[in-house]
Amino acid sequence: MIDYMPWWTEKNKKFADECENFIDTELQPRAIKLMEQDLDPMKIQWEASKLCIDKGFHPLMILAEEEIGGLDQGYAGYTILNEEVGRSMININPLLTSVFGAGPIHLFGTQAQKEKFMIPLIKGEKWASITVTEPDVGNDAAGIQLSAVQDGDEWVLNGWKRFITLGAISDYHMLYANSDHDARRIYRHLTAFYIPADLPGITYEKINTLIGDVEMANSVIRYRDVRVPKENMILDPGDGWTVMISALNIERLGIAGVVGQSRNLIETARAYGRRRVQFKMPISRFNGIQLRMANISMKMNLARVYLYYLAHMLDTGEADMFSFGVKSAISKVFGTQSLTEMALDALFICGGDGYLQEIGIGGVLKNAALMQIAGGSNDILKLFIGRNEFMQDVDTRMIPPAVRGPTKEEADNL
Ligand SMILES: Cc1cc2nc3c(=O)[nH]c(=O)nc-3n(C[C@H](O)[C@H](O)[C@H](O)COP(=O)(O)OP(=O)(O)OC[C@H]3O[C@@H](n4cnc5c(N)ncnc54)[C@H](O)[C@@H]3O)c2cc1C
Repeated sequence: MIDYMPWWTEKNKKFADECENFIDTELQPRAIKLMEQDLDPMKIQWEASKLCIDKGFHPLMILAEEEIGGLDQGYAGYTILNEEVGRSMININPLLTSVFGAGPIHLFGTQAQKEKFMIPLIKGEKWASITVTEPDVGNDAAGIQLSAVQDGDEWVLNGWKRFITLGAISDYHMLYANSDHDARRIYRHLTAFYIPADLPGITYEKINTLIGDVEMANSVIRYRDVRVPKENMILDPGDGWTVMISALNIERLGIAGVVGQSRNLIETARAYGRRRVQFKMPISRFNGIQLRMANISMKMNLARVYLYYLAHMLDTGEADMFSFGVKSAISKVFGTQSLTEMALDALFICGGDGYLQEIGIGGVLKNAALMQIAGGSNDILKLFIGRNEFMQDVDTRMIPPAVRGPTKEEADNL
């Protein structure tokens, strides 16, 4: 049973129940059937994604306004769906990538752009990818080199992107380009475009082979004199940084939704711990096993509450997406780092069986590692969180002098 948050509205609770029912009675049974047919994980992801679309559980539909065919369930609804899908251990990565790709239009697009671009995505007729990363640009996303030069009513793009999930098979690229090298100092150098993936001059140079089950046409893309009408620009020239940071915050909240997978880990570890007998008693009676279980339980509960609290802040307008960086970073870092640690604890509770493919913990570990990298590496996000703490005003009233250290004046008189 999904645990309601005390602040959830009746609409949130109803949606959570519907979601849980859909996962238990439709998505999971269908996925199990496909697995029994030995279908490869890629195909299962696509089948699962299509079922979600048909039954009205596309995360983009959950977020989008009713006027364009959405359900307007807010970030609480978005998080509920992410958590529930996570619990089912079934990937719907194509849908999530599309949400991350369409996030900027949801936040900043004109009505015309929403109608033109989002409706086909919501219906599952089209797919979107997000193109930030370049051969020489990773975490330093402000260093984007792909250039955009204005030529009358069009922009001309030249450069490369890499690591682009769905790249070669998506219909649109949400792309960020450098339109003014000189303005980098004041973060006005980037411009955001939402462009058709088949424009002349776009070539798909390579599909990467990955270690997880998430390959999804992970592409290296070249843009050579690609002409883009100005109608495909999101906001104005120079607004790309605002657009990108806001979209990354939606992505980080989505990634933090992996907390749903920890609910599955708990179920697995609980069932295993009670059933497995060693030294004439269930291993769940051993202190060491209980300590591992406590680690899983504490991290799962904390990650979950903080994530839903953030969704609530956004839904009630207490925070806006652009100024949400530190909070979404905390949620993403804590959620994904905890998932790795929880998966290891669950694996060790299950001993040798934990290492078997069928038990599914190995898949969680691979996914958790990727989620620590995607959407900005955890290490960099932690630096951002730490630096932000030191930038807050200092109130030394409660700190004994010996701890706070001497002021400059005191030090001069020493
Ligand atoms: C499977 C997969 C799918 C992806 N999908 C997409 C996608 O759809 N679209 C997209 O745009 N990108 C995508 N990416 C790229 C992803 O967002 C980047 O990998 C991520 O942002 C990190 O960039 P990087 O790999 O270039 O690492 P780098 O930035 O080169 O970092 C390498 C290492 O150095 C550390 N480091 C870097 N700078 C500092 C610093 N200042 N201080 C301390 N440590 C530092 C990092 O923490 C990391 O450990 C995907 C990646 C993968 C693996």
